[in-house]
Amino acid sequence: MILKVLGSSSEGNCYFLQAQNETLIIEAGIKFAEVKKALNWQLGNVVGCLISHEHKDHSKYLSDFLKSGITVLALAEVFNSQVLKTRVFCKEIKPMHGYKVGGFKVLAIPVVHDVPCVGFIIEHEKMGKLLFITDTMMLEFRLPPLNHIMLEANYSDPILQYNIDNGIMPVSMRERLLRSHMELKTTAEILRVNDLSKVNEVILLHLSARNSDPEQFRQTIQKSAGKPVYIARNGLCLDLSLTPY
Ligand SMILES: [Zn+2]
Ligand SMILES: [Zn+2]
Repeated sequence: MILKVLGSSSEGNCYFLQAQNETLIIEAGIKFAEVKKALNWQLGNVVGCLISHEHKDHSKYLSDFLKSGITVLALAEVFNSQVLKTRVFCKEIKPMHGYKVGGFKVLAIPVVHDVPCVGFIIEHEKMGKLLFITDTMMLEFRLPPLNHIMLEANYSDPILQYNIDNGIMPVSMRERLLRSHMELKTTAEILRVNDLSKVNEVILLHLSARNSDPEQFRQTIQKSAGKPVYIARNGLCLDLSLTPY
């Protein structure tokens, strides 16, 4: 099972989970031409696309996915936020409900953002259990034993404060981020309180361009979680197989 990152920021989000003959896409915030290219134009292998919430960096290209006959699983709010010609390939999901997408089992879990948003626990026989959480201020959910963790680490409070003090960020940014995105210490705390004994690696998502420091984030989380940590940069490819060799 290969994870490919096409984008992981407010500029646009899209991830592939690729097994031998099936691909699950997470988020539709990257131009569809780029998605097709990254799929080597093998659209027939795509079993579905999950979207976490309606913000455009996650859902902007939803209609292109639908036009290509890709089943999109998302909250009703995501479909209602756009003018769609047809809903044939739209599958509405609800928090705390499970879905089967090809060989993937998907559980939608509630998270706390400034619009309705879900995270996912995704299971596949080749990968085990993966947690995917982005765009949330916190997680009020006790996690089951996991094999892989993809978790937001959007900003660091000291970097944000420096940017506010120096006029790089407006003061109002603090209030907005507090209610919508995950601060580095929150990311670390979630990893601290949950059982990571079966976790192979942690992948940090959706870092703010201005209010984060990727290398510092990677080191901080690696130290506190005691697991290999990767930053989800565009083009990152990782083997998430249970037995990679
Ligand atoms: Zn976002
Ligand atoms: Zn968002």
